[in-house]
Amino acid sequence: MVGAGFAGVYALYKLRSQGLTVQVFEAGDGVGGVWYWNRYPGARCDVESVDYSYSFDEELQQEWDWSEKYATQPEILRYINHVVDRFDLRRNIKLGTRVTDVVLDEEKLRWEVRTEAGDVVSARFCVLALGPLSNANIPSIPGLESFAGDLYHTARWPHDGVDFTGKRVGVIGTGSSGIQAIPCIARQAEQLYVFQRSANYSVPAGNVPLDDAARREQKANYAERRRLSMESGGGSPHQPYPKRAVDATADELRNAYEKRWQLGGVLFSKTFPDQMITIEANDTARRFWESKVRAVIDDPSVAELLIPNDHPIGSKRICTDDNYFQTYNRNNVALVNLRATPIERIDGASVRTSDASYVLDALVLATGFDAMTGSVEKLNIVGRGGQTLNDVWAEGPKTYLGLGIAGFPNLFNLTGPGSPSVLANMVLHSELHVDWVADAVRYLDTHGAVALEARPDAVADWVKECSDRAAGTLMPSANSWYMGANIPGKPRVFMPFVGGFGVYGQIIAEVAAAGYKGFDIIEG
Ligand code: NAP
Repeated sequence: MVGAGFAGVYALYKLRSQGLTVQVFEAGDGVGGVWYWNRYPGARCDVESVDYSYSFDEELQQEWDWSEKYATQPEILRYINHVVDRFDLRRNIKLGTRVTDVVLDEEKLRWEVRTEAGDVVSARFCVLALGPLSNANIPSIPGLESFAGDLYHTARWPHDGVDFTGKRVGVIGTGSSGIQAIPCIARQAEQLYVFQRSANYSVPAGNVPLDDAARREQKANYAERRRLSMESGGGSPHQPYPKRAVDATADELRNAYEKRWQLGGVLFSKTFPDQMITIEANDTARRFWESKVRAVIDDPSVAELLIPNDHPIGSKRICTDDNYFQTYNRNNVALVNLRATPIERIDGASVRTSDASYVLDALVLATGFDAMTGSVEKLNIVGRGGQTLNDVWAEGPKTYLGLGIAGFPNLFNLTGPGSPSVLANMVLHSELHVDWVADAVRYLDTHGAVALEARPDAVADWVKECSDRAAGTLMPSANSWYMGANIPGKPRVFMPFVGGFGVYGQIIAEVAAAGYKGFDIIEG
């Protein structure tokens, strides 16, 4: 198994409990995946902590106390370490060990897994738990590698933190990571330049501390909360307003959006059921958002630059923030509009745009990830007939249910393309996928079979279904990382399954109940 984030840790627990021998390799020196690497100031989850936590063990659920509504990165990292120790999982995880090759022995139907450290393991099953947001994107800006100041990427943040006091700092990137980090850096730095290529939609995070009474109430209602989450569109127990935005009155629109605004987190983009379906519905959300945001930015010309005009709200992942827009009212913060004046090169300690030069002590790249496929593609994965996964996926990822790939028997890619993935609560999604894989393994064993392999026709149908469903929404209209649009040369394909977490859960359960319809069951 590759990866010891939320998916890998639970897969280890589940498959080991089922009597399998499991070896996990993890590139990081600690467990936690995305929460191990992304230690930038302000890093916090945008799904409520009570929901963004494992549901598989009732005692674990009852004993863990979250201190805030939306947990910080350090608290989530403490939680996952707690889980690893509580279930004695550490002994099967080899840290600091990067997997390089995953190669099928076609005769024996076993996977040979090799690591940079020289490990060679032969396994019947290979589970990829790499995380959709784990391959940091370093932009190709001329001269970047020889920047004379301190260079950071939000997804590779130093473990002992960074003190920006008295420093001239630049931040490139205004996605979720940049938008969380910028207010924190602005409070420390002497001068902050934000280099913005695209403006982004962000809603207030709405974080509050949790007291004992709030925690008691959450824990008493956990079973219902989880049930609703599993049926929901995004893996948390919130339902959209029971009416289309285009049919709602002005009062209903305002009240429903205000309620979600106050709730905070990413659910603002799911307030109404048609909000991501038609531009008329989407515009009602965008107008509400715009009036809120314009009201907190002092300089209207700065507000003009911070308000997106190139994509519907929610068609890129909506960001959450703590006083992000107000940060531009500070006199030590300047917004540099890269659309008007692009970065040309980095020269010594300066970022040179087409019309100015910014001398910096530190430069922070908040430039995101080669998402969903980037980490898979870094591995040399070789299936039947010596075909590499990179060849099979050259025009975009091709899976059946996200879980199976034709020509790659018993290889399971968790929470990746073809599944709801980043559109859902990743902790519950990990559990859903791992439980499905564990059931499939049990099915093979009880039927005297050795392997499960997605059939090419099932893959073709699923790829078409995912693409048709996406085309029925506004999601493909943005140049988002969901589409691979942030990485030059990457195929433009909407990668997640857009039909909803609950719907997806039903589909994969029905496939299993029908004897793994669409998969070949290979006898021993
Ligand atoms: P991102 O959303 O991809 O944002 C990257 C930013 O860098 C964009 O503003 C992008 O501009 C800019 N950029 C990239 N290359 C550039 C270049 N060469 N020159 C100038 N600007 C450049 O990445 P992210 O902020 O790390 O977030 C990724 C995802 O991680 C999020 O969408 C979310 O799913 C997850 N995340 C979640 C949380 C949370 O739970 N609160 C926090 C952080 C991240 P363009 O838009 O013009 O490409």
